[in-house]
Amino acid sequence: MPELPEVETVVRDLRALLTGARITGAQVLRERNLETPDRATFAHAITGRTITGARRRAKWILIDLDGGLVMLVHLRMTGQLLIVNRSIEPDPYVRVALELADGRRMYFRDVRAFGRVALVAQREDGEVAQSLDPHDAPLFADYGYEPLEASFTPEVLHALLRAHRTRLKVFLLDQRYIAGIGNIYADEALWRARLHPLVNTSRVNEAQALLLHAALVGVLAEAVAARGSSIDDYTAPDGDGEMQERLAVYQRTGEPCLRCGATVRRAVIAGRGTHYCARCQRAPRGVSVPTRQSTAARGPRWADRLHPDAAGATRAERAAARRRAARGGGSGARA
Ligand SMILES: [Zn+2]
Repeated sequence: MPELPEVETVVRDLRALLTGARITGAQVLRERNLETPDRATFAHAITGRTITGARRRAKWILIDLDGGLVMLVHLRMTGQLLIVNRSIEPDPYVRVALELADGRRMYFRDVRAFGRVALVAQREDGEVAQSLDPHDAPLFADYGYEPLEASFTPEVLHALLRAHRTRLKVFLLDQRYIAGIGNIYADEALWRARLHPLVNTSRVNEAQALLLHAALVGVLAEAVAARGSSIDDYTAPDGDGEMQERLAVYQRTGEPCLRCGATVRRAVIAGRGTHYCARCQRAPRGVSVPTRQSTAARGPRWADRLHPDAAGATRAERAAARRRAARGGGSGARA
């Protein structure tokens, strides 16, 4: 699932590609993906609007429209936003299609259909509303700090940690505390900070909170930069972007820790595969780590399924998607 850096990369692409474009028509091909309003109201309300920008909140994509409306997209597992020429007809996985006045189309394409699209109003206080009524309650009220914003300081993190008695891994995945972090960057940040995922947040001291803050901000900022850059020396057979190559523990089960050489382990914590080094990240006293090992090398990554025209894809990912399409298989193929 795309996390903060991948969503941020998509948003930056969209801002460059779509700002100033006018929407001349809309079709909701599968209503299940549409959170609000209904299909007909969505198409009627969005038609004629000009796209004024794109933003991100947590893992949500916010596409700003003139007249105080915001189109929201959550990619979830397999969602993609494609900006294509009108000559490219939608394949069976396109759930929402927008016609643009300049001859392009924007497709929300989602193979597994867990993604979400909504059209809501901008509130006066800068938040987005839960519906097309700008006086409705703010939609993102339950989301926590944006970790790359200045308001997220080491002191804030330490206070959050002390206020909750939960495992570090669970804490990092909970969007109510810090927004946008998922399984990959939680594991990477904990490795960087040398903190075991089962440590209780209330036992993290000030120095450790400082390390964890630096690790979180560092890994997220690096990942945003990596996804935004293109890779010229790409040689792998199938679609990984640059940041995947730099991950220290995520999906490196059984390989040596890049810092100490001990074996990277995987355990299921909070229902999620969790990767850590048992030597650099000491388990808290009296806590036994669930040891059942997974034999799966790795599951498919978000980038493995990208369409050649997907916003946020690096040049290497586009090339890999085109190769998959040429082989005639996978979700990169056009209908
Ligand atoms: Zn280690």
